Amino acid sequence: MHELSLCESITGLVADCAAREGIGRVTRVTVAIGKASAIDPEALLFCFPITTEGTVAAGAELVVEQIALRARCTDCGAEFAPLSRMAPCPACGGFAKTLLAGQEMQVVSFEGE
Ligand SMILES: [Zn+2]
Repeated sequence: MHELSLCESITGLVADCAAREGIGRVTRVTVAIGKASAIDPEALLFCFPITTEGTVAAGAELVVEQIALRARCTDCGAEFAPLSRMAPCPACGGFAKTLLAGQEMQVVSFEGE
């Protein structure tokens, strides 16, 4: 499953950072996923406890934020925030666009003690 390997990456990243900062137990992890990233937040929440088991982040809460879409119209160059990948350009009505944001996933922060 796609989300399982993502959670493994998140857990690995957080465990590395926690070790560097001398944090013994991570209590909360915040990630942001783009609305067009095809990542299912529910699946992330489901997989996270599986991948954190036995690590410094065991029992940590996972908070999933969403990154809104940003796109640039290929026809007129306008930048806008489409509600979906299919939304037309509000300036010229064109459908050709380049997505600037909304496809990525990033670990925003984590808390621990
Ligand atoms: Zn346009």
